[in-house]
Amino acid sequence: MTPEQVLAKALACETVGARGADSAPAFDALHQLIQAAFPRLHRTLARERVGPGSALLYRWQGTNSYLLPWAILAHQDVVGVEPESLSQWAHPPFGGVIAEGYVWGRGALDMKSSLIGVMQAIEDLLADGTVPQRTLLICLGADEEIGGREGAAHIAEALRMRQERLALTLDEGGFIVTGAFPGIARPVSLIGVAQRGELLVRLSAIASGGHGGLPERSPAVPRLIRALDRLARRALPGPVDGAPRQMLLALAEAASLPWRWTYRLAARLGRRTARLLHGTDLAPLMQSTIAVTRLEAGVANNVVPRTASAVLDIRLRPGDDSDEVLRRIDAEVGKRFGITLEVLERIEPSPTSRADGPIFEALAGAVRALSPETVIAPYLSPNDGDSKFFADLAVVQYRLVPLHVPAADLAGIHAANERICVAAYRALVAGYRSIISAIDAVDDPPPSAGRLA
Ligand SMILES: [Zn+2]
Repeated sequence: MTPEQVLAKALACETVGARGADSAPAFDALHQLIQAAFPRLHRTLARERVGPGSALLYRWQGTNSYLLPWAILAHQDVVGVEPESLSQWAHPPFGGVIAEGYVWGRGALDMKSSLIGVMQAIEDLLADGTVPQRTLLICLGADEEIGGREGAAHIAEALRMRQERLALTLDEGGFIVTGAFPGIARPVSLIGVAQRGELLVRLSAIASGGHGGLPERSPAVPRLIRALDRLARRALPGPVDGAPRQMLLALAEAASLPWRWTYRLAARLGRRTARLLHGTDLAPLMQSTIAVTRLEAGVANNVVPRTASAVLDIRLRPGDDSDEVLRRIDAEVGKRFGITLEVLERIEPSPTSRADGPIFEALAGAVRALSPETVIAPYLSPNDGDSKFFADLAVVQYRLVPLHVPAADLAGIHAANERICVAAYRALVAGYRSIISAIDAVDDPPPSAGRLA
């Protein structure tokens, strides 16, 4: 099988993350595939299944036990495909089709290409006789898209029990993109040095409800809608600091003239920049955001509901404390509209890893070795990936995928026509090879030097 045929077969495994046993056969099929496709890897690396689900942990033992191990994280699960969107796909999402120079299917970008690509890179390194000095762990969660608690959380806990510490976790994050930032023609490789947290809150309005023909004075639904409207119009403008500020300064270095000033000014203006960016594509890279994800009220056409509720999905930038944000929401809508708040989920933002030092430089060097003109920009990863479970185990945590993705293909993530260019996939495998070699060549940084906050 060619590397892209292995990837296509992996995409044909319908590993939609779900609790329980229904998706287990698909994960078993994926496990059998990688065992068959990567025989050297399976002869050399120790493999174990961790936790109640389908999570896997591989260990490539290094020769130098004084060096802290490092870990690459990749999730096996993908998001599902809504039946009504099937007709929009040029090729079936779980068909494992290679056509028009692309491998098509759910997971092509998020993130089976990384999972299979890392394994392919290790298989190739083993074929060349590579023996690492630093132990490398491959942590394959199985439910990242639904929170990761049955998968990566168990892997992290197993490492904690064994008192392992890690020099680095490398997880999904920024791609190498071209044309995404005004004023910059060169490709930009975004390296996530932090990730946002997540706060899920249910807002509820309660009224007496009753007959649709006898409406009450202060019904629940209009009050809830007014509260949501007020929250949507009011951003959570924090200062632009930490990773977002570092990103703007790195972009300024690479930008052509009027834009260079713009990026510099944006880095300097702080809170005002955050307000200007509210509602734009850049906001999730810079600040906390609020999205309404659920709305519930009513059981019959002629009954005024007693309760109306909505769920807010709030993503928190490092520096925004979840308690403080809850206080602010309560102050905006609590008394004013008679709204109660209930916290459904709370994941604090990650610590910020340093955007310099030997490990960061090794990663940046590996990316530049693939395409020398690439601009390296630290950034705030907008989503909370599996690396959240490893925050206390790792000296530094970075998030990047060494894959050049045209801006148009990014639209396929979690949507129709997810695909990866065959040539780009081969370059991705080379990218992981280059990263694995580069990190292996780094001498340990002193553990205290890794963390900024
Ligand atoms: Zn993902």
